[in-house]
Amino acid sequence: MEETHCIHPPHEGAQKKHSASDRSLDTIAVRGASLFEPHTGAVSTPIYQSSTFRHPGLFESTGFDYSRTINPTRTELERTLALLEQGRFCLAFSTGMGAISGIIKLYRPGDHLIVSEDLYGGTYRLFTEYYGRYGFSFSWVDTSDFTRVERALRPETKAIFIETPSNPMMKVTDIRRCAELIHRKGGQLIVDNTFLSPYFQNPLNLGADMVIHSGTKYLSGHNDTLSGFIVLSDTPLEQSLREIQKSEGASLSPFDAWLTLRGIKTLALRMKTCEQNAFRIARWLREHPRVDQVFFTGFEDHPHYALSCSQARGFGGMISFYVKDPADVPVLLKKVSLILFAESLGGVESLITYPLIQTHSAIPEAMRTAAGVNDRLLRLSIGIEDADELIADLEAAFTYCSKEGHT
Ligand SMILES: *Cc1c(COP(=O)(O)O)cnc(C)c1O
Repeated sequence: MEETHCIHPPHEGAQKKHSASDRSLDTIAVRGASLFEPHTGAVSTPIYQSSTFRHPGLFESTGFDYSRTINPTRTELERTLALLEQGRFCLAFSTGMGAISGIIKLYRPGDHLIVSEDLYGGTYRLFTEYYGRYGFSFSWVDTSDFTRVERALRPETKAIFIETPSNPMMKVTDIRRCAELIHRKGGQLIVDNTFLSPYFQNPLNLGADMVIHSGTKYLSGHNDTLSGFIVLSDTPLEQSLREIQKSEGASLSPFDAWLTLRGIKTLALRMKTCEQNAFRIARWLREHPRVDQVFFTGFEDHPHYALSCSQARGFGGMISFYVKDPADVPVLLKKVSLILFAESLGGVESLITYPLIQTHSAIPEAMRTAAGVNDRLLRLSIGIEDADELIADLEAAFTYCSKEGHT
């Protein structure tokens, strides 16, 4: 079934002439920055499993010295992701949290950051439990309401950090307006673009200064490796981040860089299929008598549908939903079999999570409840299995809910 879901055609045109290289996003994903390895002609980028590199002589270098700082496999991945996100530079970290830990060190005690209240729980924990202790201050704001962002601004605000669509409530923040606001103060807009991937959204083109990815999710795409990225175009910021990464050491290993490069080759195919499946399942869930509400940015009556269409080329494969009865939650988590009850998202395998006790357990109850993360909320990361079989799996699990009569 063909979907016609966006004001502009989501998968056409927008992919053309994606970068300075004049190649489309689909081609960059498959062929990487280099097209092939120039020394041997290897079609697959070699894994340079070497911690150190020989120097030809004093003050002479091949460009590589020590793999914490720079490694050829990682460099190919960084150049590829920079092209996909249309940035000039990219730094690859061992995990998404490694990237976020790097970026926060650009700031100083006394600095204030405005952060989306509805975001990855690990980011919340890092900022409040560690950086809060070191004299940083954070305002947790529903950034999808721009007036609240404006009101949170202080003289010492140095950055706005957003996730859009948000995790797990699928709220959409206006990237352009946040960029304008923080630029007037000389600060930076940081966008965690994990949920849509560069296939559907390129925040740097909308004014963001730095883009973050947990490459563990859609970029790698196979639930088999961890990685994290920062993409940006500003030279001084890039130099600072390289110094931070070299000093801290959370660099991506050559093998994990290769796995991520390999995953990215099918990014376009996977994102299209995940999204098509998500449409089918979101619509089905919406009609289900045991489901109260479905959060999916692809619904035309989603409050931020028009904004999504104005800043992204698609809606991705993430769905959250409330069941009517919290007693259904343990039954569903136990009875799904094709869909796996596991943390994480963005892989070819469909996963179901319970944000309350998994991704968002670090967030205090009052804040969680205000954001909508309650005991009736489940989150689905839709993979690329057959959509009818995914629906049948959910249907079968729901049958047990009624049978067991919410004891
Ligand atoms: C998973 C995730 C992270 C953290 O990434 P890791 O690779 O698990 O360290 C950060 N942001 C978002 C939106 C995520 O989903």
